[in-house]
This record gives sequence, structure tokens and C-alpha cells, in this order.
Amino acid sequence: MSETKTKESTYKPTSPNSKLDFASLWEYSEAPESSANLEIKDKYELFIGGKFVKPSKDRYFKSLSPSTEKEITQFAEATQKDVDKAVKAARKAFKGEWSDLKPSSRAKYIYRIARMLQERAREFAIAESIDGGKPIRESRDVDIPLAAAYFFYYAGWADKLEYAFPGKKPKPVGVCGQIIPWNFPLLMLAWKIAPALACGNTVVLKPAETTSLTAMMFAELVKDAGLPDGVVNIVTGAGQTGAEIVNHKDIDKIAFTGSTNVGKIIQKSLAGTDKKYTLELGGKGALILFEDAPIDQAVEGIINAIYFNQGHVCCAGSRLLVQENIADKVIMKLKDRLETLIVGDPLDKNTDIGAINSKEQFDRVNSYLELGVEEGAEVYQSKCSVPESGYYIRPTLFTNVSQSNRVVQEEIFGPVLTVQTFRTADEAIEKANNTPFGLAGGVWTDKGSKIFKVGKALRSGVVWANTYNKFDPTSPFGGYKESGVGREGGLHGLSAYLNLK
Ligand code: ADP
Repeated sequence: MSETKTKESTYKPTSPNSKLDFASLWEYSEAPESSANLEIKDKYELFIGGKFVKPSKDRYFKSLSPSTEKEITQFAEATQKDVDKAVKAARKAFKGEWSDLKPSSRAKYIYRIARMLQERAREFAIAESIDGGKPIRESRDVDIPLAAAYFFYYAGWADKLEYAFPGKKPKPVGVCGQIIPWNFPLLMLAWKIAPALACGNTVVLKPAETTSLTAMMFAELVKDAGLPDGVVNIVTGAGQTGAEIVNHKDIDKIAFTGSTNVGKIIQKSLAGTDKKYTLELGGKGALILFEDAPIDQAVEGIINAIYFNQGHVCCAGSRLLVQENIADKVIMKLKDRLETLIVGDPLDKNTDIGAINSKEQFDRVNSYLELGVEEGAEVYQSKCSVPESGYYIRPTLFTNVSQSNRVVQEEIFGPVLTVQTFRTADEAIEKANNTPFGLAGGVWTDKGSKIFKVGKALRSGVVWANTYNKFDPTSPFGGYKESGVGREGGLHGLSAYLNLK
């Protein structure tokens, strides 16, 4: 691998008490993951009815790697006609072979998919990092193993649905249209496809236009797994393709994860239809740090909460609320820790923060950085070097912000943390709940009673205590308010794919 050119780092630790002088003590050496064994095709077709088929208009769109800005492949653009074909294939499979299978046989297919994902984990991880910009450490240790875990978990339920919902007669809903975002491409696919199949449904899934690679690799895996034709159909394309799925008359359920704006459009389109739906949308998670918390551990938790996956996480903890008397100390420790984060090549195993997923998102985050300054915030950015090409943003802190600032209220979806202070638990709760969102939050304190008080009062689907961004297939996930409706994961996630009478 050629040496990556980087922009100079000028950083020398400035905090008076800083002991974290990595810059002058240790040299940094690259540790690139090899992509030699990953074969990326020149272009990918649509996966419909168990076959790879050309799009009806023969149109393809380019996919760039955000870390190099170079084209990596092309994906087919699915039109209304293609979506219709996919829905027909899914309906045929639903009426036929898939529904005729014993639930335990259905489970075997899902287990097989889980095991094959594990076998091909390295290829998937590398593809995810090249295509989406996330650090290989995260795709290797989080995205891919968790995706397999969701398939394992839901495979286990396939023949036990009556036990999951005692007294009910669970029935699949039918053909499910599933639209996923670009921040956790394969993991979001797993969250959607695994429970749907376990419940006996068939699916038409559309990955995000900037990150379709692992979904198409998954299509190949599905074919290799011998899943009956039409049970899983994958169509690529942008928003219009998604809208064709949402508006198709023969779809029984829509599962969407993405921005609140698109979620609202989808909800309007579904109003008045009898389609079931779940929407997992944006967030602006608050991290509440009390004076009695173990501060160094809390700082690690905060770093993970906001800088994990470049901050492209709907449940990211993007607002720190710190108790006033420890604020200066915490901010100093955060700044010191920020300086140790390595921003760069996603395939380098040292990298903590990879590339911003697309040019569009890069511009969006940068416009929020400008907005923060206009609103009067103080900006602190780490001084690490970043590669010359590719979309990189250094980890950023905004201090001196107020509750009404747009950078505090709106989802930035990038490596940007705002810091506010509070005096009492009630004030922290009030501030935490005062945004249009309600997806996730975190509390750091030594006192269990405070965890229960604050945890219960936060209007968030998930509240983590003394940790953050922990995901598990058994645990439901979803939001209140503009963060969406419905839950994914665990038994709640199963019920969304069943008619329970
Ligand atoms: P984000 O940029 O936060 O991922 P988007 O909501 O733009 O969010 O994208 C999420 C997914 O929704 C993507 O797969 C995208 O192609 C799809 N999408 C965008 N617009 C629409 C729409 N009007 N109807 C259905 N799907 C859409």
C-alpha cells in the first residue's frame, strides 16, 4: 500500500495538567489491513427472484470511496418497473415455497446465513470500510460480528413464535419493503432482514446509494446459501427507488431507518393505507455527567458516544451535559483525549476516526461547524494530521453553547460534540429532553438512585448508564417524538413483523 500523504500536524499539548504527550513520545506507524483478497466487481446488477438482473433502463450510478474520492464500482438504478418485479418475486415466494417450509427449516436457512457471514467476515469488514469510510477496527469488531449475531438471535426465534407471544397466533405480515441508511450498511440490513425472515416474511430491501456494496455481497451470500428464490430481493438506487417501494400497492409493511425528514415523507405516503410501518429516525442524544462519576471512565464513554463511526450514529451522544463544578476539568480531559485520536485511512488498524461517508455529508457537517461559530460557540478541534484527499473532519467540541442554538437542537451526524453545564438533576433532565428527538441518552454517576431517577425521566428509547453505544440483538431499540415509531431488536422487533391476533 502506498504511503498516505497527510496534512501536517502542529499539535503540542497545551493543557496545563496534560500528561498525554503521545505526539513526542511515540512514533506512529501505519498498520494497513490488506484488501488483496476482496474482489469488487466493476458493476453490480439488481438481485430479484434469486437472480442478478439488469435494471430495466440499463442505468447505473457510480459509488465512490469517501477515503480516496475514487470510484470503486457501479450499482444498478432500480426503476418503478424493477421494484414491481422485485415485489412480485417476493409475493410469489411468500405465497409458495417459503410459507410452506416448516419454521425449523426456515431457522436453518437463517443460521446458515449467520455462519456464512462469520466465514466471510473479513471480506465484509474490508468492503464496509472501503465503501463507507468507517475504521476497519469498527467494521471488523462491531458491524460484521453484530450483523451475524442478529441473524443467530432471530434464527433462534423462527420456530418459537408461539412462545414469544403466548396466547396469540402469530402470522407473518407478508411482503416487507425495507429501506436502510449508510451509517451501518450491513448491520442495518441484518436488523431488517433477520427478524422479517424469522417471522416467515419475504423482503425487498434497498440499501443507501452511497453504501450498497455489502448489501450486494450479501445478495451473493444469500444465493450461495440456497435460500428459495424471491425470499430476499435487493434493489439499489437513490431516494426515488425508495419511494417506489414505499408506494407499491402490494407491500404489507415498510421498515425504514434514515433521516427524520425522509421519515416524515414516508409517514405521509403511508397515511391512509393499511401498511404496517416502523420508522427509526434521527437523534440528538444527551450525555449527563454528574460530579460523582469516575471522570476518566466517563471521558472514555463520551469519546465513544460521539466519535464512534465519525458520529454517523442516530443514537450518538452528541450533547454533553456536565455538572457545573467539574466542567472545566472534564473539558480539559476531553481536549487532551481528542488529541490522541487518529483520523485517517479507514483501512489502517490504528485509525479511530475514518472518512465522512460522502461529499454531501462532509459539506453538511462543515456547514454546521460554520453555523456553530456564527451562533457564538467556542470551537475546539484536535490538531491531528488528516489525509490530503478524502472527506475527513477532525473531532470537534463546541463549548459556550445554549439550549436554543441550532447546533444543540439539530442532528449534525458528524464528529461534533456540544458541551453545556447544569447544577441539579432536574435541570439536566429538562435540558436533555428539550429537543425534538428522543432516541438515546446516557448517564454517568456513582449513584444507582440517580441512574434510576434520570433514566426514568429521560424521554429516550434507550438510556445507557456509565457506558454508551452498547448494542445487543436481544434489546429493543427505537425512539420517541421525531426519532420515530416502533422498535427493532429483541421480541419487540419480532412483533413488528407479525400479525398478532
Ligand atoms: P441519511 O442521509 O440520514 O441516511 P436518508 O433518509 O436520506 O438519510 O436516507 C436513508 C435511506 O432512505 C436511503 O436508502 C435513501 O436512498 C432513502 N430515501 C431517501 N429519500 C427517500 C424517499 N423519499 N422515499 C423513500 N426512501 C428514501
